[in-house]
Formats: sequence, structure tokens, C-alpha cells
Amino acid sequence: MSEIYIWKSRLSKDAYPMADHTAYVAGDKDNLDPVVLGRWAALAKAYGVVIVVTNQGGYRSKSDQDELWLMYKAGKLQQTAAKPYTSRHGLALAVDSSTPPFRRASSTTPVIPEAVLNRYGLWHPYSSEPWHAEPIETRGLTFAQIKARLAPIEIGAAFQQKYGLAEKTLKFISGFRWAPELVEKRMLSEGPLHLSEQTIDYLRDYPYWPDLKTKLNIAELA
Ligand SMILES: [Zn+2]
Repeated sequence: MSEIYIWKSRLSKDAYPMADHTAYVAGDKDNLDPVVLGRWAALAKAYGVVIVVTNQGGYRSKSDQDELWLMYKAGKLQQTAAKPYTSRHGLALAVDSSTPPFRRASSTTPVIPEAVLNRYGLWHPYSSEPWHAEPIETRGLTFAQIKARLAPIEIGAAFQQKYGLAEKTLKFISGFRWAPELVEKRMLSEGPLHLSEQTIDYLRDYPYWPDLKTKLNIAELA
């Protein structure tokens, strides 16, 4: 996937437990809504597992979805695929996972109880797709309503342009759960950017640090 997004989520960060997705969520998770990732991480942490998002089971850009649709129409796909523009995966909110205990119901492995999923701010919208879950806020809403009210807002492109960041640097930042906060903080203020000591210590170890520090005018701690 070549497109890189940094999203500002429209879901509540405080309504349900959150954890660090870099520790508890793996697989095809690029470009998912940051709050959705945090909720999945909290659920995984509670179960002591790492959730794996299946290939193409997270965010799907329009071209990804077109490709899946054509494969489905050609009979080359085992599961169904939504038409372009109608997949909830295109809204960066839906996650497909086949990691136990989240995988599809079989004779030996139950799907995680709905009540447990709900406690973590997630739900299964389709009884025929037990591997597919979404944030609970999508319940009762049409696709158009979800798109208008809940799909995250893209803030990465404007950020990259304004500060002239290299693609590689943007890609690096976009993997972090604090990326949306960093982008907002930088774009809303003038002058040196103050980050926590812990964050700076972490960033310093990467080759992107000089580019980041200069272009974002990050204040070094004395
Ligand atoms: Zn799905």
C-alpha cells in the first residue's frame, strides 16, 4: 500500500478501554482509525493475545476495494466482497481478524461473546461474518450516516505539505498511536513544539529524527 494517512478519529477515546496497538495489534492494520486500533488493543491485552488483522481486513482504499470486487465477480474469492464505495472497510473503521478467540465460529472455536466485544466498544454487525467487527457507534446507522458522522478525518496530507516532510518520514510517524495528536499540536501552534521527554528519547533512535526535528521545529530538552 503506497497511500499513507494520518487520521483524526471522530470516536470517543474515553468511552471504552484503550491500549497501545503497537504492542497488541498486528497484520494489515495500516491506516485504521486510531481509536478503533486502541480499542482492539485493549481487548487483545485483556485476552493476553496479539490480534492479527487479516490481509485486506483493515482499511481498504478505493483501488483495493475495486480489485476485491473484480476478483469476487470473477469467482476468485471465497468470501463476498462489497461493491466499491459501499465497503465499511473503506471508512477505516471495520476490522476482520481471524486470531483466536476472534476467528470464525467452528465446531471447536467459539467467537468471542458479543457482550465482551461490546464492553470494548466493538460489535459484530453481520451474523454471517463473525470475523468482522466495527466500533459500536456504527450500530443502527446507514453507510451514508457512518461516512458522514464517524469516518475519521484525513489530516496527514495537509501536514506533510505544510512542513515538507519526506514520504518516508510521514510513513514512520503514521504508525504511532500518538500521530494524530502530534499533527494537531504542530498545526495548531507556532514556535517550537514541545514533546514529552519519553517521546523525544524514542524518536532520537530513528534515522528520521533530524528531518523531523528540523522541519517540525521540535524543542530539544535542555
Ligand atoms: Zn470485513
